[in-house]
Amino acid sequence: MMQRSEALHRAANSSYDVCVIGAGATGAGTALDAQLRGLKTLLIDAGDFGSATSTASTKLIHGGLRYLQQAVMEFDASHYRLVRQALRERSLMMRNAPNLVRTRTFAIPCFSLLEAVYYGAGSTLYDWLSGESSLSRSRWMSRPNSLAAIPYIRQQGLKGTIVYSDGQFDDARYNLALVKSCFAAGGNALNYAPLLRFEYNEQGRLVAAIVRDAQSNDSFRVTAKVFLNATGPFSDRIRRLADADAAERLRLSRGVHILLPLPEDFGDHALLIPKTEDKRLMFAIPWQGRLLVGTTETESDLRDEMMVTREEAEYLLRHVSRYLSRKFQLSDIVSAMVGLRPLVRSADQRDTTKIARDYEIEIGRNGLISVLGGKWTVYRAMAEDAVDAVQQSATGQVTACVTRTHCLFGSLSGSEDGRVETLAEAHGVTQKTAQHLVQKFGTCADRVLDLAREDSLLLSPLVEGSPQIGAEVVYSIREEMAISIEDVLSRRLGLQYFDWRLAVRAAPAVARMLARELGWCSARARNEIESYTERISRSLETLGVDGVRAETLN
Ligand SMILES: Cc1cc2nc3c(=O)[nH]c(=O)nc-3n(C[C@H](O)[C@H](O)[C@H](O)COP(=O)(O)OP(=O)(O)OC[C@H]3O[C@@H](n4cnc5c(N)ncnc54)[C@H](O)[C@@H]3O)c2cc1C
Repeated sequence: MMQRSEALHRAANSSYDVCVIGAGATGAGTALDAQLRGLKTLLIDAGDFGSATSTASTKLIHGGLRYLQQAVMEFDASHYRLVRQALRERSLMMRNAPNLVRTRTFAIPCFSLLEAVYYGAGSTLYDWLSGESSLSRSRWMSRPNSLAAIPYIRQQGLKGTIVYSDGQFDDARYNLALVKSCFAAGGNALNYAPLLRFEYNEQGRLVAAIVRDAQSNDSFRVTAKVFLNATGPFSDRIRRLADADAAERLRLSRGVHILLPLPEDFGDHALLIPKTEDKRLMFAIPWQGRLLVGTTETESDLRDEMMVTREEAEYLLRHVSRYLSRKFQLSDIVSAMVGLRPLVRSADQRDTTKIARDYEIEIGRNGLISVLGGKWTVYRAMAEDAVDAVQQSATGQVTACVTRTHCLFGSLSGSEDGRVETLAEAHGVTQKTAQHLVQKFGTCADRVLDLAREDSLLLSPLVEGSPQIGAEVVYSIREEMAISIEDVLSRRLGLQYFDWRLAVRAAPAVARMLARELGWCSARARNEIESYTERISRSLETLGVDGVRAETLN
């Protein structure tokens, strides 16, 4: 059980082998690896676990057809290596957290014979690079079969589609599963704990850091033998906190997604849109009952407002409309997300779409180890290399990494369907709720539902018709360190990604439970509801549609 007060007490009163700064995919993966190798590990994040780039991804676990395209066009072997490594990692993620990762079939629409040959060759190469970890062989699907399988695909001029498979996952829950696995292995993890500054010994090596508890505003000192910077897009900031002379290493590329209603008969295939106006790939993917459309790619910096603009949303709608028979409007958008890709700068690459999503482990002159760049799919390999570097610098001896075969906390083995049936029967919940719980919480779904034994009202849906129930809220607060409405409704339950407006309707019920569990007064609960609603309202208004009003706290 991850309890924040206990984690805070331990963080301020223990001495660690390694302190990992940043709890996105990179940091959480690294902390788990370090703890499993017997290093006493503390993981801290300025915000909630996974609240930055790691929950704004396209939710794909993939080698990346785009990198393959670049490998062929530019005869660049580093891209092949990247694709091959990612495809190997894909199969490890599928094995180690099966309830959070699944196979998704993609269709690339072809409107000429040339396109069919070109994309067919690319996907065959992808199969070949996948080797034994291939999910299925890519193939040509004729026009009639494509129209039957993907009823919403644009019919005019369509010759057929190239079909291939890749991995798709729940990035927010996977991130949490990494943190919980680290905790379960004896590590410590604390959210809302920004690192403010470092302290040095006489030789100028880092020996401690001052960290703020953002809840109480009190600062405390963390001592560790090694500090590891895994702050993704913020990595240069931490590098400069440690060494004011450090040169910038990152370029940031902004990417947005919008979520649209998923027509019931859309089918299971995702669409890969092979060429946008700025010569990139784009996706329209069924994801958790919605159509996830993205992404954009524009050079950016940390001062950027993290809200999807009307212009960005129109860009995505314009492209998706060219490939679908159904037209979507700005007012159809039910949710959206923005993230900053941390790309390692290379002197001669001006265009961020061409920078390989490769990574680097950098050891600073005062001992700070930074993990720069990368992508979600290779988080485990990045973590392995980073912990090798930690051990090398601390003792000169590297021990074996065990994360290749380490199943994540809550991961299911056996049939998901069987588990859903049993859960629905044993606890009297609908199949839809049982399925939602199994997919989000894996084997912990039972523990979630056990909470309703003390209060049967916790079995009620948060908003009518939604699968999310009260018990999940209480579980997230008690066992997953959720301390705000957004922590609960976005990263833990997913309702905010499914529908902003539904999330606003659920906010008072969540605030009531937060107040009960964390001892808030009613004024604090009301403020929370208002500021949560205001953020969502502004997101809607930025898209040029009507905002929403806060629901009252009864
Ligand atoms: C639009 C988009 C789509 C993508 N799609 C995919 C995809 O489909 N598949 C894929 O493999 N990859 C994808 N990626 C890439 C992938 O999401 C990122 O590479 C990965 O999430 C980066 O994780 P991270 O942990 O390095 O950074 P982050 O997730 O950003 O985490 C960094 C953390 O550091 C914390 N932090 C910052 N400053 C401090 C401080 N002072 N003290 C403590 N903590 C601090 C932040 O709060 C944050 O939580 C995508 C990226 C984007 C932007």
